[in-house]
Amino acid sequence: MKRRGQIPVARLDAGERRRMCTRKRRYSSEGDALDAAMLAGAERRRKAYLCPLCGRWHLTTA
Ligand SMILES: [Zn+2]
Repeated sequence: MKRRGQIPVARLDAGERRRMCTRKRRYSSEGDALDAAMLAGAERRRKAYLCPLCGRWHLTTA
């Protein structure tokens, strides 16, 4: 099995990371992501991060 490997991310396998990406909403900027978190009233518990898979921003609970 050949990998397209270009993104050495932590230890999650590719499928798992992909699920984490596709399950989440994507935002075009950090500001958009944080705005969305704020609208949901969850900005304190959410962090925006730049996704290495899609190059967009997601929110994570952290
Ligand atoms: Zn993503």
